[in-house]
Amino acid sequence: MDFELNYSVEQQEFRQEVRQWLKDSLDHEFLKTLPPDQEDYAEAHYEYGRQVRRMLGERGWLAPTWPKEYGGGGLTVAHQIVIEEELAEYDLPAVGDLGLTLGAPAINAWGNEEQKQRFLPPILKGEVVVWQVFTEPGAGSDLASLKTRAVEDGDDFVINGNKIFVGQKYYADYLYTLAVTDPEAPRHNNIGAFIIPAGTEGVTVHRLDLIAGGGKRAIFFDDVRVPKENLIGGKGKGWWVAQTTLELEHGGGGRVTPRNRLVDQFLKYAKSAKLNGQVISADSRKQEILVDAYIQANVIRLLGLRNYWQRNAGVRQTYEGSQLSMNNKVFMPRLASMMLEVLGPYALTKDATWGPARGEIENWQRQSTATHPGGTIEIQKVIMARSMGLSRGRG
Ligand SMILES: Cc1cc2nc3c(=O)[nH]c(=O)nc-3n(C[C@H](O)[C@H](O)[C@H](O)COP(=O)(O)OP(=O)(O)OC[C@H]3O[C@@H](n4cnc5c(N)ncnc54)[C@H](O)[C@@H]3O)c2cc1C
Repeated sequence: MDFELNYSVEQQEFRQEVRQWLKDSLDHEFLKTLPPDQEDYAEAHYEYGRQVRRMLGERGWLAPTWPKEYGGGGLTVAHQIVIEEELAEYDLPAVGDLGLTLGAPAINAWGNEEQKQRFLPPILKGEVVVWQVFTEPGAGSDLASLKTRAVEDGDDFVINGNKIFVGQKYYADYLYTLAVTDPEAPRHNNIGAFIIPAGTEGVTVHRLDLIAGGGKRAIFFDDVRVPKENLIGGKGKGWWVAQTTLELEHGGGGRVTPRNRLVDQFLKYAKSAKLNGQVISADSRKQEILVDAYIQANVIRLLGLRNYWQRNAGVRQTYEGSQLSMNNKVFMPRLASMMLEVLGPYALTKDATWGPARGEIENWQRQSTATHPGGTIEIQKVIMARSMGLSRGRG
């Protein structure tokens, strides 16, 4: 089976336009100062990430295939592929906006017209950052057990509860969250999905010190008043709103990223640096590991491409999203072990002189432990078993 892409003349011309624009518009010197771990970002890195998103949004390149009336580019999937491939050439500061990839599709599917007009354009134009705030201390894999409570009071809901492992180091504009609206209703029919302005009184954000870094936060809601018009999909429908998000987060949307930049850097370093007087990649055992890393990265890339194609071609998916996610998550710590075996103790330092790839490899030794976002490896297996009819049905 050949999943590779062939490009039309129009795509190739568009690629030149995007490439030139990125070359002219990005601050390449500033990008060289970007630390690998988001927890180490200065506010200027975060702000620059937001600025780049706004610049892309103005051109319709942040959400290329979304309709223009909602702030998208009104472009084709072919354009989107080119944009994503060209953006993948750069390390851009992550701003942790899950609103674009995960929140907007749910608002589009479940929101009323007024909500779409209000929330989608700023998200799709990169004017705001939205955090996905679902997980609670007792509700991660078993998300439907969440306890955060939303009680109706006049024109508002009043929300109380706490969330964990969410957000990023710097601030967001909106929080996309879930809370119990109907405590007496059956499981899955008792939850509401809310978009909360992040600055609302009663919202507190606390730093978490995770070995994986990444700038994750805990959030507390204390009598947070949210207008009823910020409830997406209606009372008791939040579980289904969240399913639109989770389906994508589990890998159903696929991706067209042409390369694994970290694996590229690993190979580049091994081909150029010396250990005990010998170029690292000259060692035959290490060659095997390097080739294995390259192959694994490309297997995952092709699974992502297949899912991307399926989603855009309207093909009904069953296990494919979680298959991509599981393969990626299994590879993450494995790649860290490969790096450690090939580079030895150099893989463990971000020292300016001794740390390979500006500390990216050291960062990966820690970051690769975080295989939880969007569901653990075990949960991906559970989802696959259910969608293949091997376990109890979905619901
Ligand atoms: C770096 C990072 C970023 C994150 N980002 C976000 C975010 O932006 N927004 C957000 O809302 N959440 C986020 N999360 C939370 C993430 O979704 C949860 O950590 C994840 O769903 C697992 O939940 P848990 O940590 O409560 O573990 P638990 O659900 O308590 O699981 C503990 C262990 O039990 C296993 N397990 C649980 N249930 C089963 C089962 N049925 N069968 C087999 N094994 C099972 C799990 O695989 C795991 O090994 C993030 C987490 C991390 C670490």
